[in-house]
Amino acid sequence: MAVVMKGAETAARMKKSLMEELTRLKQRGVEPKLGIIRVGTRPDDLSYERGALARFRELGIAAQVYEFPEDVEETTFFSKFAKIDASADVHGILLFRPLPKRLNEDKVRRSIHPLKDVDGMNPVNIAKVFAGESDGFAPCTPAAVMEMLAGVELAGKSVAVVGRSMVVGRPLAMLMVKRDATVTICHTKTRNTAEICRAADVVVAAVGKAGMLTSAFVSKKSIVLDVGINVDKNGNLRGDVDYDAVAPRVSMISPVPGGVGAVTTSVLASHVLRAASLLTA
Ligand code: NAP
Repeated sequence: MAVVMKGAETAARMKKSLMEELTRLKQRGVEPKLGIIRVGTRPDDLSYERGALARFRELGIAAQVYEFPEDVEETTFFSKFAKIDASADVHGILLFRPLPKRLNEDKVRRSIHPLKDVDGMNPVNIAKVFAGESDGFAPCTPAAVMEMLAGVELAGKSVAVVGRSMVVGRPLAMLMVKRDATVTICHTKTRNTAEICRAADVVVAAVGKAGMLTSAFVSKKSIVLDVGINVDKNGNLRGDVDYDAVAPRVSMISPVPGGVGAVTTSVLASHVLRAASLLTA
């Protein structure tokens, strides 16, 4: 049976250094604060928001939600966004995406202060991730996958990333390359995804299709990380990996829930602390 990679264990390991950094900042008179910007009330946004607020409460870091109605006027949204972005007491901004089509998401991505962009959406931060530079902000989910793999030697290993979104798959591939892994990115046009995954040492599923990665995608040596968050018809969370079929056949696996998702908010907290430190240096 595989070793289960529990997100709570990674979050607990991270908590110690987060608390130390928070103490250092408070000693300098800095009160780090996250601003969460949400348009509308999408259930997945609300669920992530609850998790983030709980994590920040646990750590003692301030967080404020700025809520906008689904039909907010574009000019109203952008003027309020600019105010939050310019506010000296907000050190990091998490914007729930996608925004409603009427709002120009590209304009927001380009206008956010790169040092407050704690979920890595500004082109400056994306470029830094792709250039292998460590001083930018990677999106929190791929960064959480890398935290889960902190104790695993990746140099020279083969990695298959299934999914090529700008939020997960692509930045994750770059973070893996930075750790000297050899990466293949699979997507809907890839002809032999199962074969590529089976041959890889590490497989990451970031697809958005419940149970898509079956036992045909893994081998005994596989380390499997499941980024997928899918809600089944009974309201239960399911990953992109068919956990019951895959877990008995691999060396390590992250569950859903309780895997990568449980680490993302800790990464978000670490990014807010780093942003606060950089903005007040
Ligand atoms: P996305 O933007 O919909 O991208 C999905 C990717 O999967 C696309 O690149 C798509 O390929 C690829 N794909 C779809 N079906 C495939 C198939 N049959 N074979 C190979 N590739 C396939 O999704 P996302 O935003 O990256 O999110 C992926 C999953 O992670 C979702 O379940 C989401 O809820 C979850 N997620 C979790 C967290 C977290 O904190 N744990 C955060 C964000 C997202 P094409 O490009 O060819 O269409």
